[in-house]
Amino acid sequence: MPGYANVIVEIALEKLDRTFQYKIPEELDGQLAVGMEVQVPFGRGNRLISGYVMELSDRTECEDHRLKEIAGIAPGRLSVEQHFIRLAAWMRETYGATMIQCLKTVSPIRQKVKGLEAKQVRLMKNGQDLSNCLALYQKKNAKAKLRLLEALAENDRLPYELVTKKLHISGATLRALQEEGVVEILSEKKYRNPPVPKDPGAHIVLHESQQAIVDQVLADYRDQRYGTYLIHGITGSGKTEVYMEIAAGMAAMGKQAIVLIPEIALTYQTVMRFYRRFGERVSVLHSRMSAGERYDQFERAKNGGLDVIIGPRSALFTPFLQLGVIIIDEEHEGTYKSETMPRYHARETAMERARLAGASVILGSATPSLESYTKALRGEYRLFSLTERRGEGTLPGVILADMRKELAAGNRSMFSGMLLEAIEKQLEKGEQTMLFLNRRGFAGFVSCRECGQVIKCPHCDVSLSYHRDGRLHCHYCGYTKAMEKKCPQCGSPYIGTFRAGTQQVEEAVKRRFPQARVLRMDMDTTRGKGGHEAVLERFASGDADILIGTQMIVKGHDFKNVTLMGVLAADLSLMVPDYRAAERTFQLLAQAAGRAGRSRKPGQVIIQTYQPEHYAVQAAAKHDYRRFYEEEMGYRLLAGYPPAAHMMAVLIASEEESLADELANLLKEQLKRILKQIPAECMGPAPASLSKVRDLYRRTIYLKQESQNNLADIRKLLEQYIEQNGQFAGGTVQFDLDPMQEY
Ligand code: ADP
Ligand code: ZN
Ligand code: ZN
Repeated sequence: MPGYANVIVEIALEKLDRTFQYKIPEELDGQLAVGMEVQVPFGRGNRLISGYVMELSDRTECEDHRLKEIAGIAPGRLSVEQHFIRLAAWMRETYGATMIQCLKTVSPIRQKVKGLEAKQVRLMKNGQDLSNCLALYQKKNAKAKLRLLEALAENDRLPYELVTKKLHISGATLRALQEEGVVEILSEKKYRNPPVPKDPGAHIVLHESQQAIVDQVLADYRDQRYGTYLIHGITGSGKTEVYMEIAAGMAAMGKQAIVLIPEIALTYQTVMRFYRRFGERVSVLHSRMSAGERYDQFERAKNGGLDVIIGPRSALFTPFLQLGVIIIDEEHEGTYKSETMPRYHARETAMERARLAGASVILGSATPSLESYTKALRGEYRLFSLTERRGEGTLPGVILADMRKELAAGNRSMFSGMLLEAIEKQLEKGEQTMLFLNRRGFAGFVSCRECGQVIKCPHCDVSLSYHRDGRLHCHYCGYTKAMEKKCPQCGSPYIGTFRAGTQQVEEAVKRRFPQARVLRMDMDTTRGKGGHEAVLERFASGDADILIGTQMIVKGHDFKNVTLMGVLAADLSLMVPDYRAAERTFQLLAQAAGRAGRSRKPGQVIIQTYQPEHYAVQAAAKHDYRRFYEEEMGYRLLAGYPPAAHMMAVLIASEEESLADELANLLKEQLKRILKQIPAECMGPAPASLSKVRDLYRRTIYLKQESQNNLADIRKLLEQYIEQNGQFAGGTVQFDLDPMQEY
């Protein structure tokens, strides 16, 4: 039995890293657990205060008789703080990180407020409203107003001082703008929702397939059967309406809802619908908020001022006291996985939080992750399907354009004849087109333009990447070979790395269709000026005939007049050296294929590909999730990739290349010893696919094992080894369980 407990006395303070060791008295032997609230004597006067057990230990660093004893376990039910400490302990156990890192993740710490926060000027217009305003002031030649508005369009709130002193806007002008409802002057730290009128009139009567889900979830909840539900529903099938109805049902019972969405900027329309439905009872967290503002929203949540909070994965840690449900929209998205330690997955963490709080979890997606769908098939989650579109429109027809044939016919441009013809027709009809360049991540793989073949690692079945040393490398196992001169499959000399950006596409479109009005959306065109929203609003209002963009344009938005979606280089993402490449390709293509035809006019999708026979491409074209799932799951089972087994990436980084190699080799040697006791498949070390990032040299080792617990045990042994070995001071080692990205 551990005789000592490390106790943290206040988790609301910055001093999270300071724990105090106490002796466990005999009468509490065996009764304490991590996360429990206890009473401890503190300070000179031995005042009794509350603390939380962070760690139990059978060793002490001090002399035993100098330690004070824990006075007792705090009475009463589990507080939200206790939940969070348990959640942190679970994260540490599951993903590996220090307790402090985990605590900081689950419990955002109040930043010291710098005095009283000064007055701020905040923009109250966005999108089309904002454009109209700008146009009006331009016409009236209202220079001061224009100056302010342009500044606010970049950054939607500015310090009052800056506005008056640097932008030279007078108090009178500001008051006038305030009266016109263009800006708001915030006198203290307060946060309000944008002015969206609550509109209960827009209430929709759910279809029986939707209502059945709502009824089931709420009935289960009332019976204290807190489950996990997966809603597999095509785009436009009314999932968001279901989420809102469930949240409203929870609110009626005095319970709260957390709604996670992948990226606010891309789900702007969804957020507005929640505003309209829940008014002041909903709050949205986003990345532009300061730590203080975020904390204020959490306070509001804790004080019962909110029914619903919407946000990215960190919204999971909203301290609702009566949490009823956690809803995760687009649950397959990679953004739900943290990229810093602890590298937690919001879906798994949501389950744990729900378990602690007695809440339900709803997962929704048109293309569920293999993880979730597998669990649903096994009956661990309750599965619901929504197979019809609710609003207007039907699923568009999808045509595959075989780019190998185009090449054989002498067409070396980036557009197939079919796509060119279709765009031509769109322009004649005055209907809009979106061109989606599938260009995800790293494009160092080598493929054949004649037969579509990708050069793969013979051991790992993932693409090899071309490195500057002129050789091909595998990022999982380290296998390497010389660059091929001809396609090993068909002998064609047309092999190489594929690189094309949105800018090149834009130029090519403009050359080909000089009469077309073209908009481009990528990192360059969305920086500042209202970002994505501005570009999307312009397109939605008919400002352009063709919108060109990467991933961003296929997500979330409804454009009523878009009746053609062209997908360029559909297979680019298939070749990323990553075991999830096919899954991600399928998701993107399915999403793209669901975009066109959201109105009464029928839509069409043309997917250009070098691998039209690939199951991810085929299944997306047929809107056939099940077929994709079966094929992909077969592959994961064969190769032992998640969710068929678990996988852990060990990431080694150092500023010195030789040290990175040395540390990786040390770990490998240690692993060989560990694996004698706990068997697992071990690959690497290998250079990461981005082998040097921000001057850090990166190496990876991968471990595969069916049991997640075994991987956790291996990780703990490695952590001990690293702690005891001084050489690791010059580098970092991180762990990633079931990684979502290639390293
Ligand atoms: P998803 O979240 O699955 O993409 P949404 O909830 O956004 O689907 O619904 C798509 C469109 O259909 C929206 O405009 C929504 O208002 C509308 N809609 C959803 N359910 C219904 C319904 N039962 N009756 C009428 N319109 C509906
Ligand atoms: Zn070939
Ligand atoms: Zn390999």
